Amino acid sequence: MRVEHHTARLGVKGTSKVAAACVVFHMKQAIVLGGSMAGLVTAGVLAKHYGRVTVVEQDVLPESVEQRRGAPQGRHAHGLLAGGGRALEELFPGLSDELRRDGAVPADVARDLRWFHEGGCLARFRSGLDGFLLSRPLIETAVRRRVKALPNVRFLEGQRVDGLMATANRSRVVGVRIGGEELSADLVVDTTGRGSQTPQWLEMMGYRKPVEERVEVALAYTTRLFRWRPEHLNGDGAAVIPSTPEGKVGGVMLRQEGERWIVTLIGHFGHQAPEDLAGFIEYARHLPAPYIYEVIRHAEPIGEACSARFPASVRRRYERLDRFPEGYLVMGDAICSFNPKYGQGMTVTALEGKALDECLAEGGERLAQRFHRRAAEVVDIPWAIAVGNDLRMKETVGPRSLGVRFINWYMAQLHKAAHEDAVLSMAFHQVANLLAPPQSVMAPGIAWRVARHALFPRQRREPAKLSEASL
Ligand SMILES: Cc1cc2nc3c(=O)[nH]c(=O)nc-3n(C[C@H](O)[C@H](O)[C@H](O)COP(=O)(O)OP(=O)(O)OC[C@H]3O[C@@H](n4cnc5c(N)ncnc54)[C@H](O)[C@@H]3O)c2cc1C
Repeated sequence: MRVEHHTARLGVKGTSKVAAACVVFHMKQAIVLGGSMAGLVTAGVLAKHYGRVTVVEQDVLPESVEQRRGAPQGRHAHGLLAGGGRALEELFPGLSDELRRDGAVPADVARDLRWFHEGGCLARFRSGLDGFLLSRPLIETAVRRRVKALPNVRFLEGQRVDGLMATANRSRVVGVRIGGEELSADLVVDTTGRGSQTPQWLEMMGYRKPVEERVEVALAYTTRLFRWRPEHLNGDGAAVIPSTPEGKVGGVMLRQEGERWIVTLIGHFGHQAPEDLAGFIEYARHLPAPYIYEVIRHAEPIGEACSARFPASVRRRYERLDRFPEGYLVMGDAICSFNPKYGQGMTVTALEGKALDECLAEGGERLAQRFHRRAAEVVDIPWAIAVGNDLRMKETVGPRSLGVRFINWYMAQLHKAAHEDAVLSMAFHQVANLLAPPQSVMAPGIAWRVARHALFPRQRREPAKLSEASL
């Protein structure tokens, strides 16, 4: 049997127990490359369908809530969209309660967060779109704890995957190479993130690389932590101030565990917040709204700043390849890494996890084709939202169809109207949180309200009640 054959040659340091288990139990083995959010979600799903799941991660993973080298984005503000919170709870029942116990701050997306769009804040109300304000390491640690508790999941930490093993005719991936050693599996899933080597590995095996779509956004991030005080922002849990096409600077300030604010200031196309405290605060003064500046100019700073660059959103179209090896899948940022300012990555990962679960439940035949197609459907919506909005900046390189121009004009009208119209505010939050498709903001009841506000902007109306919404 192929699995045993390769397992017999396995000699990776620290993996002998995994190899022995494979030989003794003749169980189906899966290997997940990378142990970040996508790797953890994938391992959690695979554990239901495979006898043994091995997560190979180049970092030695911390026991407590700490930053780590392989996920440097963890130092920057991470929002978990309501759609992601729900999907993670479905995959790991009880996770929300654990996050709350760990110190995550529960928040209603529309009631507790301040969203500044088109010169004003969106209408506030109890929406039922519940999420958490928390640090990236906190959520990763909580999910990792759940996955590590699964009896058939093993972690190989501090091990870097160098390449794939395939059958002689290259039709099937049968394992991975780690430091010159080999580890066999029936299924290998690449979740090594944006820097994934899969395109190169496919080419080496005689397959075509996937088409790669890039949308250059030239984004720069600078982040600092501050001590949270109850009087800040009148008790609101966050201020979200997106960059405008003209100004190109924006920021978010999110509460997180440990009575802290995490403040990430962004800039596009040459704009970047300085790391030094005075420069950082001064940069915040030039954001489209004053909320972040008003808090951080008096707040107690914690630690040092860190910064990062995100040149482009990248989407790899694996679903379009006509040939793909069996026994191999790609997931998470390795498929698509979105402009992070929309906070979509972890949610997309969780939704892909649910799609994988469904695909595996349907059987193993043509798994890669079926899964990559489903993953592409998951990615389509957030990609359209992010790219469409990014194209509002004239410097963004990408096709600007008439449709995109119209949608961006329409969304600006919707945001303006949503300053006082809770129905429209809700329609936006549903889409932004990946709980409703983008076309839902074009539904006749919504479009009519947008048109009414656009045509009669000064007419005072009673604030709309949510029960009027057809959402
Ligand atoms: C600045 C920034 C801010 C973001 N903000 C948000 C946000 O607010 N909300 C949100 O939902 N998402 C956000 N994201 C995206 C989110 O972090 C990712 O979508 C999420 O982590 C899922 O990524 P992943 O697991 O696919 O890849 P990654 O998180 O990149 O993880 C890849 C893992 O693979 C490991 N690895 C890599 N190569 C190898 C190898 N050869 N062998 C073994 N291990 C390997 C790495 O060490 C790492 O652990 C942000 C991203 C960035 C960059």
